[in-house]
Amino acid sequence: MRGRASRNVVAGAAGKCSPQDSSMNATGVRMVTRSRSRGPGAGPRGGGEKAAPLWKGEAAAEGRKSPSPSRHRRKTQKLNVAYDREEEDTKPPRAPSWEPRDWRQQLLNIRAMRSGKDAPVDWLGVEHCYDSDAPPKVRRYQVLLSLMLSSQTKDQVTAGAMQRLRARGLTVDSILQTDDSTLGTLIYPVGFWRSKVKYIKQTSAILQQRYGGDIPDSVAELVALPGVGPKMAHLAMAVAWGTVSGIAVDTHVHRIANRLGWTKTATNSPEKTRAALEEWLPRELWGEINGLLVGFGQQTCLPVHPRCQGCLNRTLCPAARGL
Ligand code: SF4
Repeated sequence: MRGRASRNVVAGAAGKCSPQDSSMNATGVRMVTRSRSRGPGAGPRGGGEKAAPLWKGEAAAEGRKSPSPSRHRRKTQKLNVAYDREEEDTKPPRAPSWEPRDWRQQLLNIRAMRSGKDAPVDWLGVEHCYDSDAPPKVRRYQVLLSLMLSSQTKDQVTAGAMQRLRARGLTVDSILQTDDSTLGTLIYPVGFWRSKVKYIKQTSAILQQRYGGDIPDSVAELVALPGVGPKMAHLAMAVAWGTVSGIAVDTHVHRIANRLGWTKTATNSPEKTRAALEEWLPRELWGEINGLLVGFGQQTCLPVHPRCQGCLNRTLCPAARGL
């Protein structure tokens, strides 16, 4: 379940982890301009439930508030994220000083190649693995848990683990009441399952103690949780809270951005790729990139032996000749 969600959220259609749940809602996610700039009841969370994404109307209804930074016993990790900058709210967007020459056509080509929406991420991604009938904060917890499981794990394996967990009633309390051995059995064979058992338990305890069983609504607080990285945090913000906080860059997005020359210079980590992309890619596209490129990476621009001959970008791709 790599990376999929800055591609926006599936509202009520989610929660089955099955091919039948193939519809993806490409709308409904708002861009955030500053981190920690609003409480859970603000912004797009005030809408109705049925046609709305997971987050709408939920936090406000629950009256939950994130604890203030001064009350945190745990030191939050500082991320250099674009939306932290104060001027983003007050100044008009500036034209980037650099952008890839052919990116618009490359993007159109990828959209065309992805028009079938038939990659694993399209029906097994995080938007499809939470229980849409569960209370809002339980759904948000399930979103975060599926993201934690998805690291270094194929979508199919993550979806299977989520199904087994959900069959027992997947909540913060149920996880904390499950012994480590049983939890390991339930999530196996996700990648690094032993470490994930530990991180899931630690994170669940923090969520219970500090957030009333809900998940925090800022990237800084999310990445402070054990086992939660920046990509997961941005995806959780998008899927659970309906806020595009940044570009979620996983191994697919990192690889393809470098192959296409979408970074000014080659980058050697997903975080550097995220920063490089956010320098020039228009914000209105941030929410789309993850799902688009993850599916493209699953079907065409494979890690090894990419299918360049069938790729619409083969004449525009700097990497095509060298692969
Ligand atoms: S031409 Fe090959 S390397 Fe370039 S984007 Fe297409 S599949 Fe990937």
